[in-house]
Amino acid sequence: MIEFKNVSKWYGSFQVLTDCSTSVSKGEVVVVCGPSGSGKSTLIKTANALEPFQKGEIWIDGVSVGAPGTNLPKLRSRIGMVFQHFELFPHLSVMRNLSLAQIKVLGRKESDALERGRKLLERVGLSAHAEKFPGQLSGGQQQRVAIARALAMDPVAMLFDEPTSALDPEMVNEVLDVMVDLAKEGMTMMVVTHEMGFARKVADRVIFMDAGAIVEDCSKEEFFGNTEARSDRAKLFLSKIL
Ligand code: ADP
Ligand code: MG
Repeated sequence: MIEFKNVSKWYGSFQVLTDCSTSVSKGEVVVVCGPSGSGKSTLIKTANALEPFQKGEIWIDGVSVGAPGTNLPKLRSRIGMVFQHFELFPHLSVMRNLSLAQIKVLGRKESDALERGRKLLERVGLSAHAEKFPGQLSGGQQQRVAIARALAMDPVAMLFDEPTSALDPEMVNEVLDVMVDLAKEGMTMMVVTHEMGFARKVADRVIFMDAGAIVEDCSKEEFFGNTEARSDRAKLFLSKIL
């Protein structure tokens, strides 16, 4: 569903990604972790063309992200993205946040978009909040709206970039629970997070990045197992967060 082939990227003369290769199959959940500044956000942003890359290839469901004729708005609408900061439209109600792109980008009828929005709000436990504005919701609630908004586009995969790291601790689980449900329902997911409880529960694989490179890419069992193969950098990182 998502494939990175020898992807490298520079900001000016600074190389931020070095020869990154990995793939996420349909229905697979891959957790990406690693120190701050290691390139995690950049890697997932390249996957839906929020950031260009200079070398290698990225394929999303058979479409080459970097190829000249690729329809980027269409590609982006097929990949749900959830960021650390919720990035809802502050001047629109929750329901408008959920329906706007369905109508504008997918060309859905308003009544269908609202219906889909209602179903998704129910799914993330926020049916009572449809007419509120984002600023009237807690951070955890806003993040659940952001997930629902991404799902409203019927994405083939979801990318998450530290979706819980800006939340107060008591709100982390309500967001992780929604993500765990999604994973269990078979959504293809690439999740940058340091929530190792989430990784243990639903990840199929764990990627560890350091200094712009994918240093480890292995099964969850291998990653959390006490293997000799563990790189020193990953050992150090894990010793700090576990
Ligand atoms: P992570 O998400 O793992 O913390 P990022 O992908 O955000 O890492 O950043 C990787 C590196 O790229 C960092 O050194 C960061 O300072 C640098 N970087 C990120 N965005 C830009 C940018 N727009 N211009 C220049 N350097 C950037
Ligand atoms: Mg980041």
